[in-house]
Amino acid sequence: MNARKLLQDHGISVSDLRVQMIEILARARAPLSFESFSLDANKTTFYRNMELFEKEGIVVKTELDRKGFYELADRVRAYFVCEVCHEFQNIQMPKLDGKIKSVLVKGVCQKCDEE
Ligand SMILES: [Zn+2]
Repeated sequence: MNARKLLQDHGISVSDLRVQMIEILARARAPLSFESFSLDANKTTFYRNMELFEKEGIVVKTELDRKGFYELADRVRAYFVCEVCHEFQNIQMPKLDGKIKSVLVKGVCQKCDEE
């Protein structure tokens, strides 16, 4: 995927950080929080950019314990997420007419439930 083109298509000016953020999301297999990006950027800048991406419909945000987890909007998947360890697992996407934006099932995973 071409991060620069994606930004330009949405009228967002290209910066190294923005390109980096999109590329990390494109490689991710599950929604990511700020910490998992390990970027050389401060939190405020990070969240400001994510808000912009969200507004432009590039990114979808999932909130969990008041923490944002982000993924690219064009590849939305269905997840089960553990409220204890915050691990995301893919689940089957429900079949329905219309456009699904996100599917999130919350609970406690087997590993945490046993502890
Ligand atoms: Zn867990």
